[in-house]
Amino acid sequence: MSTETSSNSPLETELRFDAVDLAGRIGSHRTVQHTITAPARDAGGQAMQVPEGETIDVEAELESVVEGIYVHGTVTTHLEGECSRCLDPVEQDIGVRIDELFMYPEKLTAEEKEDAVLFEDDQVDLGPLVRDTIGVEADERPLCRPDCPGLCSQCGFRMEDDPEHFHDVIDPRFAALQGLLEEDSDDVEQAEDSSEQPGSSDDAGEKEDR
Ligand SMILES: [Zn+2]
Ligand SMILES: [Zn+2]
Repeated sequence: MSTETSSNSPLETELRFDAVDLAGRIGSHRTVQHTITAPARDAGGQAMQVPEGETIDVEAELESVVEGIYVHGTVTTHLEGECSRCLDPVEQDIGVRIDELFMYPEKLTAEEKEDAVLFEDDQVDLGPLVRDTIGVEADERPLCRPDCPGLCSQCGFRMEDDPEHFHDVIDPRFAALQGLLEEDSDDVEQAEDSSEQPGSSDDAGEKEDR
């Protein structure tokens, strides 16, 4: 979606691992481990992101296979964002598997190269893989809890703070219903003006019981 502008992000520069010692030696393997510090959040990016300064741990096994270097391991980090309903802070810990085959370019046709992840400069570059993996795992619509009541649609009040919160504005449909309930009283229009109507307070009590 967005193009890379931050070429000195640790994700771009610190997750390239030399694997010249494994190249062509089928069956040989080695474990790599590296922790990077997350760069600043992408302002227009996903709801859940790794906050600046948070660590991203990458641990992977590099294995030499016929087609190239097979990498499999885990990415562990911590995401932060806002509840999509009430804007409260939301956190998400992830520990996800990564899995990629970095293919020897010389064994591929030009067409195959376009779709493949390549073993270039004797290195495996786990940066794009790690970034994409975190992006896929991140909640797109984070919630502080599954039944978050969100904000009042009329004033933005946090419903969590007072579930009874409501506005004393009578919906036109409700006003009509109230009229029907008061049908047997002699004069409905006067009832609205008078604050001392014994019948109307009883009606209100009944409505709350439903
Ligand atoms: Zn919430
Ligand atoms: Zn409100």
